[in-house]
Amino acid sequence: MEKLEQLYEGKAKKVYATDDPELLIVDYKDDATAFNGLKKGTIRGKGVINNQMSNRLMQKLEKAGIPTHFVKELSERETLVKKVSIVPLEVIIRNIAAGSFSKRYGVVEGVVFDRPTIEFSYKNDELGDPLLNTYHALALKLATQAEIDTITDYAFRVDEFLKAFWAECGVTLVDFKLEFGRLSDGTIVLADEISPDTCRLWDTKTGEKLDKDRFRRDLGGVEDAYTEIMKRLTEHDA
Ligand code: ADP
Ligand code: UDP
Repeated sequence: MEKLEQLYEGKAKKVYATDDPELLIVDYKDDATAFNGLKKGTIRGKGVINNQMSNRLMQKLEKAGIPTHFVKELSERETLVKKVSIVPLEVIIRNIAAGSFSKRYGVVEGVVFDRPTIEFSYKNDELGDPLLNTYHALALKLATQAEIDTITDYAFRVDEFLKAFWAECGVTLVDFKLEFGRLSDGTIVLADEISPDTCRLWDTKTGEKLDKDRFRRDLGGVEDAYTEIMKRLTEHDA
């Protein structure tokens, strides 16, 4: 497998072409951003952790019947993935009120929902990723109804699986963001990453935040939190 030209540099990853038109290489950086790029920084070692964590979780999800873009981990920071056309929706599942949900609806962080919620944002940095409903997504032709149904089904199944998995690690899965894409034949697969950048993960005993909120909110101990959450995963699988 040959790594060819860089196709894209995002906020957290670089994407490269390969000699196979159906495959890409993603390269995870230590760069961190928040508030739509307004806050910038570096989290030392984050790229390695996010790459390895995302790959382990995606492999578990594959086994549980959720198709993903994961193909092969190539190095500490690089992974071979199936090329998809990203569905421009950020799919957010919440088990507990936090972040923008708490702010928008005036709910204190930590309120546990009877059932998980799903919400969609239009993945569009210029517009600030505005919240939208499925009718809006259809009107904007971001996805078909069948695709939205598949994505919704997968997203709740990912939640069930990851909630149970993290519970075994002494970690509470508060909320997370997923991205899905279409393979060349139209099949919907889970893409992008699942990491402390894209999930809220709280220590179940102490409530300590083990995710990117430590960076967003200047709580300190950012690197330590990423290291700790990776250690929980590694010890679980040992
Ligand atoms: P952003 O674009 O938000 O700054 P990243 O730095 O994580 O985010 O860049 C990675 C980009 O690659 C994202 O735009 C993401 O949607 C896209 N992407 C993730 N997985 C795949 C894939 N399998 N095929 C094509 N694009 C992907
Ligand atoms: N999230 C993400 N990327 C985004 C927006 C949100 O990965 O562009 C994740 C975030 O890490 C959290 C969940 O989605 O786990 C819900 O985020 P929320 O809507 O509360 O937004 P925030 O508080 O980050 O503004």
